[in-house]
Amino acid sequence: MNNKAWEKLKGWGHEPEKTAIFTDIDGTLAPIVSTPDLSKVPEELRLLLARLARSYRIVAGISGRATPDAKKLIGLEDVVYYGNHGFEILRDGAVEVVPEAMPYADKVRELEKLSREELGPRGAFVEDKGITASIHYRNVPPEVGELCKAFVKREGERLGLRITVGRGVVEARPPIRADKGTAIRRLVEEYGPEKALFIGDDTTDLDAFRALEELREEGVLLETLRIGVKSDEGPPEIVSEADLIVDGVEGVGEVLRVLVSED
Ligand SMILES: [Mg+2]
Repeated sequence: MNNKAWEKLKGWGHEPEKTAIFTDIDGTLAPIVSTPDLSKVPEELRLLLARLARSYRIVAGISGRATPDAKKLIGLEDVVYYGNHGFEILRDGAVEVVPEAMPYADKVRELEKLSREELGPRGAFVEDKGITASIHYRNVPPEVGELCKAFVKREGERLGLRITVGRGVVEARPPIRADKGTAIRRLVEEYGPEKALFIGDDTTDLDAFRALEELREEGVLLETLRIGVKSDEGPPEIVSEADLIVDGVEGVGEVLRVLVSED
């Protein structure tokens, strides 16, 4: 399976103008570290992305983070940033929020306030990120992590928000369909590539995998590649649903090097 996918990837390098490169950021381009503020995309990957952004139809970083934060991590103007799990897009210096999400802005702020009061003193980190809320419990003992998950789930659901749990983080968002899958669909419809790949390592990335598959079945995309980044904490579906599996951020570097190569 992997060999065929590598061959396909090599072929795509010859038609960059027809090809979209979509990628998750944390755990995919930037190694996971204990404090999200400290994570960083290695310089080599950044330079590769800069080259790809010049020749490919679109290069987009699709992240759970707020878009300005996603942009800070990659640091490139030519890249489109789709953040907050499909709620927010940043390109050419302007941020757009999905309009259906706006009525929930106050509820999200209320959950952040409650979490800061209740979970902050126990060591959880409540990230300020606008239209969604992220409560990080990576640096706390497991029983406090369980408490964080239970608290955010209970209070978030009471406020009418949707709750998801990822690697060391529990997140709340407006209950409308907006995820990495809707992000991919919107970008494909807007930019019109024939081929598209997505690289990701975590649960929310599976929506992107599935959107690629649907777009191919609908004939909107002619070819797709789902690239899974294997890690100890990632869900098993990242491996089982992928067309190509790579090992960590280094493995993602190999993928990007193949895409820039003109042989
Ligand atoms: Mg990730």
